[in-house]
Amino acid sequence: MDQIKIGKFIAEQRKAKGLTQSRLAEQLLISDKTVSKWECGYGLPEVSLMLPLCEILEISVNELLCGERLEISEYKQKAEEIIMNFVQEREENKKKIFACIISVVATLLSSISLIMVAGLFEMEVWQRVMLISIACVTMVFGIFVVCVMESSAGYFECQHCKTRFVPALGSYIMGVHGITWRRLKCPECGKVSNCRKRLSKK
Ligand SMILES: [Zn+2]
Repeated sequence: MDQIKIGKFIAEQRKAKGLTQSRLAEQLLISDKTVSKWECGYGLPEVSLMLPLCEILEISVNELLCGERLEISEYKQKAEEIIMNFVQEREENKKKIFACIISVVATLLSSISLIMVAGLFEMEVWQRVMLISIACVTMVFGIFVVCVMESSAGYFECQHCKTRFVPALGSYIMGVHGITWRRLKCPECGKVSNCRKRLSKK
């Protein structure tokens, strides 16, 4: 925090309110030397004095600590940017998870139909073996693709430190899992836990 900037800001706002240093000090039940000290950049108001000081000067604590007036539009724009990023990320991850489900269904359907063809129709043994092999390859490949897709959709939350992270593909595939959790090692605290699936970073 820039004490000189904050001090100048306090002086500016005090003058704008038409207050002398001693008048402001009186209202805060402190000595005018303390006010003078702040305004010269030697030390910040105690925490217990911050709110009353801000009330008198009609500024926010945020503005006091920044040492400047903040535009309402700036506040709003920043807040909106954060919310939009959050919503967008959730939407994208929902789409990714939906695509995963479609891929699982497509993989299963094509593998099962190949196996059924191999079982139901008259054909040479080598043809059956080939069809079943293709079915197996399709299944393994499909599951692999789904794992890649799903591991990048959203985050996993560590049970210990609540860090949200994207796991490495290897540990993701090998991790024991349920529908909404997966046993993973947290990159932050290094502990292994049943990490929950989360759609967004925060
Ligand atoms: Zn952790």
